[in-house]
Amino acid sequence: MSQAEPQVPHVVFLAIPGLGHIKPMLKLAELLSHASFQVTFINMQHIHDRLLSTDLLALYPEFQFLTIPDVVPRDRPRSGTMSLGDFLLATGPVIKPALRQLLISLRKKKGRWQPATCIIEDGILSSSVIDVAEEFQVPVFAFRPSSACCIWTYFHVPKLVEEGDVPVVQDKDMDKPVTCIPGLENVVRRQDLPGNFRIERAHDPGLEFFINDQTLVMPRAFALIINTFDGLEGPMISKLGAVFNKIYTVGPLHGLSNACTKDLTTSASSNSILWKEDRGCISWLDSQPSRSVVFVSFGSVIGLTRDKMLEFGHGLVNSGYPFLWVIRPDSITGEPDPSLILGELKAMIEDNKGLMVSWAPQEEVLAHPAVGVFLTHSGWNSTLESVYAGVPMICWPAIGDQQINSRFVSDVWKIGLDMKDTCDRSTIEKMVRSLMEDKREEIMKSVNEIKKLAHETVKEGGSSFSNLEKLIDDIWSMSHFARKERSDRRH
Ligand code: UDP
Repeated sequence: MSQAEPQVPHVVFLAIPGLGHIKPMLKLAELLSHASFQVTFINMQHIHDRLLSTDLLALYPEFQFLTIPDVVPRDRPRSGTMSLGDFLLATGPVIKPALRQLLISLRKKKGRWQPATCIIEDGILSSSVIDVAEEFQVPVFAFRPSSACCIWTYFHVPKLVEEGDVPVVQDKDMDKPVTCIPGLENVVRRQDLPGNFRIERAHDPGLEFFINDQTLVMPRAFALIINTFDGLEGPMISKLGAVFNKIYTVGPLHGLSNACTKDLTTSASSNSILWKEDRGCISWLDSQPSRSVVFVSFGSVIGLTRDKMLEFGHGLVNSGYPFLWVIRPDSITGEPDPSLILGELKAMIEDNKGLMVSWAPQEEVLAHPAVGVFLTHSGWNSTLESVYAGVPMICWPAIGDQQINSRFVSDVWKIGLDMKDTCDRSTIEKMVRSLMEDKREEIMKSVNEIKKLAHETVKEGGSSFSNLEKLIDDIWSMSHFARKERSDRRH
C-alpha cells in the first residue's frame, strides 16, 4: 500500500427493515460521512426498493447502498403479520451468508472504496453479525435505537421469569411493582414492562431468541451506541456501563444531526424515507392559534382497529381543541375497506377542527408553535423528537419499548401522561384538557428543563457531541490500526 494513499475509514451500516431503526441509523451515517468517512449502508431488498422509489438515495450521493435478501417472502403482507421474535428467528439463516459475501467483496480496496473498517449493526441482529464479523476480524458496534431503560430491562429477563413477572399476562397483577431490576425498583410495574413480554408462556421461542441471541450477546461487540443522552437517562446508562466495554450515547441523533450538519440538506428530507410527507399540514398549522393543536401520530408500524380509531376520534373532537392526525394508508386494521372508517372519521370532524394526513414531516410539526400536545405511541424516536421540541405527551403505548418509555415520560421525567391499556373517549378528552389547561404550567416546567438539556447535549462541549467526537476518533484509530496490521502481515 502506498504511503500517499488516503486512510479514510469505511463504516458499514446494517439496518433492520423498520423506519424507527433506519432513520436514526441514517442520521448517524450522515454524521460520520460529514466527518469524511466512507459509508456503505445495507438494507433488506424491499426497503432498498422503496428508498429507490422515494428518490431518497439521491440525497446521499456519497453513500454506497447495498442489499441483503428479504427475510419475509415478497408475496406476504408485511404490516402486522410477523412478530419481532419470529422475524428475528428467520433473519439468522438469511443474514449470515449474505453478510459473509458482502464482507468478502468489501475486503479488497475497490476504486475509491477502502476495505471495511468496522460494522455498525442494528443491535438486535447481534448474534448473526458478530459471528460473521469475528470470522473477518472486523470490529462491530451494536446500535440500539431504543431507550437505555428498555435495554437495561432486556438484560434482566431471566430474573424476571424467575420472579414470575414475565410473561406479562394481560389484566393479571398489572399493577404489581417489579422489584428485580436494579435502579427500577420504584418505577416499573408489570404493565410497564416491554410489550414483547406480553406472551402466553415464559419459554416463548421468539422471546428466548431475542434475549439470548440478540441482547445478552451484544456485549461481545466492541461497543454499544445508543440514541439517548446522559442528561435524560444517566442512571440507566451507568448501569449499562457495567455490562459493555464502551458506550457512546449520541442522542437525540436528529438534534445532533441538525446541530452538526446545518449545511447539508438531507437532515429534514430523510424524514420521508418510506412515505411521502403531506406538507399541506404545515400551512394548516400556520393558521392555528399558538399551542392549541393536538398532534396525533402512532409511528410507522402499529395499526388500530375501527373501535379504537373511533374512540380517539370522539375523544379529540370532544376535547374542543384542533388536532392534526397522521393516519397511514395501513393504519386501520381488521377492516376489509379502511376507507369507510376514514369516511366516518372525516364526517365527525366536518367543522374543520381536525386535519388528517397520511404522513407528516413530524419533526417540523413538533417544532411548530401551534402544537401544544403530542398524542403518541411512545416510539423512542417520537419520544426524543417531542423532548427536543419541548412538547408534552399523552402516551398510548402498544408494543416493544413503548410501554416502558411511556412510564418514564409520565413518572420519571414528568413530561406527559400515560393512558396505557385504556382507549376510551373520556380519558382522551380529559388528558387533552389536562395538558392544555390545569396541568400545563406544572408539566411545562419539566418539559422545558429537559428540552434545555437535550439542546445542550448536542452542542459543542455537550455529552452527545463529545461522544460523537470520541466515536469518530476511535474509528479513525481502528482504521490506522487495521492498516498497520495488514501492512505488518505483508512484510
Ligand atoms: N414519522 C414521520 N411522519 C409521520 C409519522 C412518523 O416522519 O407522519 C417519523 C417520526 O418522526 C419518527 C418515526 O417516524 O422519527 C417513528 O419512529 P418511532 O421510533 O417513534 O416509532 P416506530 O415507527 O418505530 O413505531
